[in-house]
Amino acid sequence: MSLRINEEYCVACGLCLVHCKNGAIKENDQTQLYYIDPDRCTECVGWYDEPKCYSACFLSAPEADPFHKETKEQLLVKWKKLHPSKNPIVT
Ligand code: SF4
Repeated sequence: MSLRINEEYCVACGLCLVHCKNGAIKENDQTQLYYIDPDRCTECVGWYDEPKCYSACFLSAPEADPFHKETKEQLLVKWKKLHPSKNPIVT
């Protein structure tokens, strides 16, 4: 399952941005808040055993996105497509 950023909590501090190794977190040009691209978010499967943006956020703005439910296996397939020349560190 991809994560999404709850805009009610996000203050655009950018802490999540520097922790995402998938390049999934982007800035909304209109609101200047951050959002997560579900095509790039693997819930950190492949890199870590927990979502890094969630643990980095003091305001708990990243949350599970119920509109993008995926199994761990599907997330790993997505990770491999994003990083074809790498091996996953955590599966
Ligand atoms: Fe990036 Fe991981 Fe957060 Fe997804 S859960 S947006 S991959 S840091």
